[in-house]
Amino acid sequence: MADETATKDKVVCIHYVLRDEEGNVSDTSYGRDPLAYLHGHDNIVSGLEKELEGKTVGDHVQVTVAPEEGYGLRSGPGPQRIRVRDLPRGVEPLVGNSFAAQSSDGTEVPLWIVRVENNKVWVDTNHPLAGTTLDFDVTIVRIRDATPEELQHGHAHGVSGMHGHQH
Ligand code: ZN
Repeated sequence: MADETATKDKVVCIHYVLRDEEGNVSDTSYGRDPLAYLHGHDNIVSGLEKELEGKTVGDHVQVTVAPEEGYGLRSGPGPQRIRVRDLPRGVEPLVGNSFAAQSSDGTEVPLWIVRVENNKVWVDTNHPLAGTTLDFDVTIVRIRDATPEELQHGHAHGVSGMHGHQH
């Protein structure tokens, strides 16, 4: 059991509750599978990963993460309005959905849908939780070795390591 600690290249499975500055629950894993992430590979916000380092199964961690170590500070021009039909194929016009867009210099930038109204959506380069102080309540439920495939991909393939996904 000695190696069951959250260190680089381990897959760590956590249940969590994420609250915003007002104490409202923004997201939680309870009621679904635990979140599995590959430790040391920037799969989760840095402020949380840092606190989980060296922790073990059953440990409970409460951590407040500043925006700089969370989803970043808000930047850019703010939400831009586009037509629903200009969304990339397969992207549902739902608040919280994200997709990659090509910027003018050819790099890919993530965009989040922040508002939907009739046939228009507003997209923003800021993560919906950018600029927010995050309050995490985390319990580690499982730690296992990563599979060679997970290490190659740089992320976890679910709690068991057997989950398929899109690449
Ligand atoms: Zn993968």
